[in-house]
This record gives sequence, C-alpha cells and structure tokens, in this order.
Amino acid sequence: MSGLSVDFRLPVGCPSCGSHLMRVSQVKNPDDKVFCASCSRYVCLYHEACTVLEKGPGSESEALIEAAVNRGP
Ligand SMILES: [Zn+2]
Repeated sequence: MSGLSVDFRLPVGCPSCGSHLMRVSQVKNPDDKVFCASCSRYVCLYHEACTVLEKGPGSESEALIEAAVNRGP
C-alpha cells in the first residue's frame, strides 16, 4: 500500500490506538477507506474524513467516526 497512499491528520483519534495520523489512497476517492497509519485499523470512508476535517474536533466529529468504525469497512 505504501507509495500509493498518503497520510493526513484527523481531528478525531483512532478508536484503537488514539493516533490522529490516518492513511488513504493517493487518489482520495470519496468512497476510499481510511485506515489508522499506526495500527492499520479501518476508521471511516474518505468523504466522512472530509466532513470531520471541516467540522474540526468535537462531539459531532467523534460521533461520526464512531458510527463509521462500528459500521465497518
Ligand atoms: Zn490506530
């Protein structure tokens, strides 16, 4: 996956390890899966990550990520 993916910071941390560093494909399609860069756990889809980036940190963003994690890839 390396070389074809890019890292970015999310306002909400990974539910497994708490890292804010996320990884997504270089193409960044809205439906591309976002994984934690540290533990490789699935976190959300890229369009959801964009919403969280717009909203910034807070309970709304945390709820969005929690829902995405629980739903699964
Ligand atoms: Zn993690």
